[in-house]
Amino acid sequence: MKITAVRPIPVFYGSRNYLFVKIETDAGIYGIGEFGITWKEQAGIGAIKHMESDLIGQDPLNTEKLWQILFRGDFFPGGRINMAAQSAIDIALWDIKGKALNQPVYMLLGGKMRDKAVCYKGVGGKTPEFTAENSKKLVEQGWKYLRLGVMDRDGVLEPSVAVRDSVAHFAAVREAVGPDIEICIDVHTRLDPPDTIRLGRKLEQYDPFFIEDPLRCENPQSYRLVRHHVSSPLAIGEHYATKWEFRQIIEEELTDYARIDLCIVGGLTEARKVANWCETHYIKIVPHNPLGPASAAACLHLDIATDNFAVQEAGRVGEPFMEDLFPVQIEYKDGYMLAPDRPGLGIEFNEDAIEDHPFQWGHGPRLQRQDGSFTNW
Ligand SMILES: [Mg+2]
Repeated sequence: MKITAVRPIPVFYGSRNYLFVKIETDAGIYGIGEFGITWKEQAGIGAIKHMESDLIGQDPLNTEKLWQILFRGDFFPGGRINMAAQSAIDIALWDIKGKALNQPVYMLLGGKMRDKAVCYKGVGGKTPEFTAENSKKLVEQGWKYLRLGVMDRDGVLEPSVAVRDSVAHFAAVREAVGPDIEICIDVHTRLDPPDTIRLGRKLEQYDPFFIEDPLRCENPQSYRLVRHHVSSPLAIGEHYATKWEFRQIIEEELTDYARIDLCIVGGLTEARKVANWCETHYIKIVPHNPLGPASAAACLHLDIATDNFAVQEAGRVGEPFMEDLFPVQIEYKDGYMLAPDRPGLGIEFNEDAIEDHPFQWGHGPRLQRQDGSFTNW
């Protein structure tokens, strides 16, 4: 079998773009993958086009060799955009491999550790009362894990206010759902170490399952300070590309959960390695999944085959989403994504719907401080 085409497919859906990659073969089998860096899709398309000549005519089953060629083939490291492009390609190749061997991808990653992957849903509200009410509704629908966010007030994120608000919302949700529902909170890199420490200390009494990504990724050693002062579990890593960017937080045990983004880290090939490395430090994986149905499916296959899996970000799973583009998606029931029996990723892509969702230039939401200065979204 040989690769005959590598096609980047950007679509705008809802409020943002998504970039898929479809890889075609001379056997008539195709694979679908997804690129993980939102608002950088045209750069991703360029990166994918640069990789095309290394892929056309190659056997798509040689996923490890192709990964190494794409990563090291042009001497200079290509950075995170390159890794997101390579991730999309790698996931598509695993989809092809599963279809060619007539097995679900998880069977090729180690087999079925579990039948289904528990997942969490994001929840919020304007006031602690509304957030608590919305949380109760999700629990009644079957969700066993919930995730709050550190929030702004109408586009203004003032750290001390955000910490107070977050604690009030968290306390109200814990009171509403009781001790058996796990509650996480995503800081979304909106705080620096001192405010993270204040947040962590105040939340401790409400038993958070984890505090997610308090800091940006550029200086991972700052987590030493956070780790020293915050006893609640941390979940870190959704920015990271490659095993090397995960190295320090794994080796120094700066996190309890690895937020591997399969569409940035280097696809299923690299995520498998990071997950196994985490196993040597008793770190569990919580794959990041804010994207479309190809990302969700790739995450699920890794979760199903991985012993040290904790919980999966559901993203849009569990609600109607991109049904025209993906008429077959992974299934969801009562707080779990279910392991598909279908070969490959177990999803189907419908090209006819692409033209209804043309790419749009733009950028993500922005936040500011009370004094008008810029701060992280
Ligand atoms: Mg996050």
